[in-house]
Amino acid sequence: MSNPMNTNSKLKLAIQKSGRLHDDSVRLLKECGIDISNGINKLKADATNFPIEVFFLRDDDIPQYVEDGVADIGFVGENVVFEKKKKVVVTEKLGFGKCRLSMAIQRNEQYTGIGFLQGKKIATSYPVIVSDYLKSNGVDAEIHEISGSVEIAPGIGLADAICDLVSSGSTLFMNGLKEAEIILQSQAVLIKNDGLGAGKQQLLDRLLFRIQAVKKARNNKYILLNAPNHKLKEIIGLLPGMKSPTVLPLAEEGWSSVHSVLNENEFWEIIEQLKAAGAQGILVVPIEKMII
Ligand code: ATP
Ligand code: ZN
Repeated sequence: MSNPMNTNSKLKLAIQKSGRLHDDSVRLLKECGIDISNGINKLKADATNFPIEVFFLRDDDIPQYVEDGVADIGFVGENVVFEKKKKVVVTEKLGFGKCRLSMAIQRNEQYTGIGFLQGKKIATSYPVIVSDYLKSNGVDAEIHEISGSVEIAPGIGLADAICDLVSSGSTLFMNGLKEAEIILQSQAVLIKNDGLGAGKQQLLDRLLFRIQAVKKARNNKYILLNAPNHKLKEIIGLLPGMKSPTVLPLAEEGWSSVHSVLNENEFWEIIEQLKAAGAQGILVVPIEKMII
């Protein structure tokens, strides 16, 4: 009889060893109830309570490992997936590591559109994406590949423009640069090997089920409020909820307690409307997991 805990039946997950995606990757696993707290400094760690084995790698290497099947799945930035062009399947957006890949030029220059880059020298760590982008826009420019500190290239005369990851834009600002063109929006995604076997796929489905529950919970809040009964209908009408909201009578005659779930995006607007409609004692609580 096969042992369900032997190595072959474990799902092998590659995450970034250290850097911007590391902590959020580990946190997501933890929120999925997967504990890998022991061994974070090693090359790999076993989860104690889920048949998963975690490899800690450089993010650039993750698509290759997943294509080769050394890892079954990986958490990596979409930007790296597009750059490496490996044969992997992007399965789920993970909601963290959000950034954009942008062209930036020196702040004192006047950007006139993509044609500005014609004949210029562009420094980047993303030569494949940049060259595809320039080609599809009919622009001919020289790409200068550098692996780090791309933002200093124009200042030292190495390039006229750069193409690099941006989140707040403060790094560009500090280097006398301004964002000129967004090439792509990115976030961390789950990628999987193209030929995952049925057993591994089953484990992945269990993991995805948990990831989706965590993501939904992060985007939603549980709300409790008190409403005078004569306002109940109006207040309930404002609440989307998963089904209809829960309504419970309060000890005080003529009042009810209303419980519901609100999406982060519409949250403040609805709270304002609820207050205006006569809701009182509004409590908002985070949701840990959400399964619908
Ligand atoms: P490694 O040592 O693993 O190669 P790295 O230096 O290439 O690390 P990090 O800077 O840690 O990579 O970034 C990892 C990923 O985090 C990026 O590929 C991108 O998807 C995401 N990211 C989110 N925001 C930013 C940002 N402002 N700058 C750079 N990367 C960001
Ligand atoms: Zn990297």
